[in-house]
Amino acid sequence: MAPFVRRQYGEEIYAIMREIKAIFDPRNILNPGIMISDDSELHVKNLKSVPSIEKEVDRCVECGYCEPVCPSKNITLTPRQRIVLRRELVSAQQRGDVKLQREIERDYSYDGVDTCAVDGMCQVACPVLINTGDLVRRLRDEQAAVGEKAVWTLLSKQWSYGTQLLGSLISLAHKVPTLSALVLNSLRKISAKVPLINTEIISGGKARTGLRNPHATVVYFPSCTSSIFGGSTPDAFLELCQKAGVTVKIPKEIAGACCGTPWKSKGMNDGYRSMRAQTGELLNKLTKDGALPIVSDSSSCTQGLGEINSEYKVIDVVTFTLTTLVPALKLRKIGLWRSIPPALQLSLELTMI
Ligand code: SF4
Ligand code: SF4
Repeated sequence: MAPFVRRQYGEEIYAIMREIKAIFDPRNILNPGIMISDDSELHVKNLKSVPSIEKEVDRCVECGYCEPVCPSKNITLTPRQRIVLRRELVSAQQRGDVKLQREIERDYSYDGVDTCAVDGMCQVACPVLINTGDLVRRLRDEQAAVGEKAVWTLLSKQWSYGTQLLGSLISLAHKVPTLSALVLNSLRKISAKVPLINTEIISGGKARTGLRNPHATVVYFPSCTSSIFGGSTPDAFLELCQKAGVTVKIPKEIAGACCGTPWKSKGMNDGYRSMRAQTGELLNKLTKDGALPIVSDSSSCTQGLGEINSEYKVIDVVTFTLTTLVPALKLRKIGLWRSIPPALQLSLELTMI
């Protein structure tokens, strides 16, 4: 808009603006040509090309609002940079710049695809609601080998064995940390997708089990992370429910059920569809087609279960504890209770149980 600033403000004010700019920036190094310019044709020069690339991100205006919220921004790229590099890749192809094209393709695999957490935080901040994770998920699906996809699809059908195997491997890694680090590091030389196991995790978890209760008012969906990584969340939650008089049930097929996030985030679409269908079927039955609420004890599963069927009333365990269990537990209130912040109130109430 620089060529039109003079017309907008008039000669006199424009002259003052030029003077101020010259005082603070005598060598014209700060944003040259952006607000003050003698070039009346500047608005039609050096136009940025924005080639059409992928439907998930084509409407990006490169404003950068998504950048501060991205968890991988300090490791590799921000969401905006992920999109801009896709545009640069297409521009390089169109110009026939093979060297640049190869460089971007080589680096994008790790910088753009592998290090995206596909958590969708960018969509929360984006004015045009772009979730760069959607693009990354599709790229992962396109880049995955047939064998890898087949393994993940098989896992979706045998997830109870999958969680037990992973849990046992974590327990084993803790018992023989040096050997497991050696094996995993060797495997990672073949494929960077082999995870490293944190040997500080003492043991894997136990298989999830169902809980029958014909009068239950709530369906509890314990996350498979507890059966892989251990932890006492399900036991603690069930104990709280019992004390609060809230009746819950757990699907008897829970050991093999999952919200599907591990498949979805990796772009393993066949496996995701398979797991989504299985879990949807059992939840339809158990919630009486969405009439009963589902409590999920992991925030990513809360989102994942809601995506299986938007009719489900999925409640995160923290919200459920705060809104249903805590009031039901008829806890003692201490003096000046209302002046304590809600988050602290919850911690104190849980400590007092
Ligand atoms: S906030 Fe949205 S439009 Fe702006 S750069 Fe990020 S993805 Fe693009
Ligand atoms: S989905 Fe990927 S790009 Fe978007 S905020 Fe998460 S890590 Fe960043």
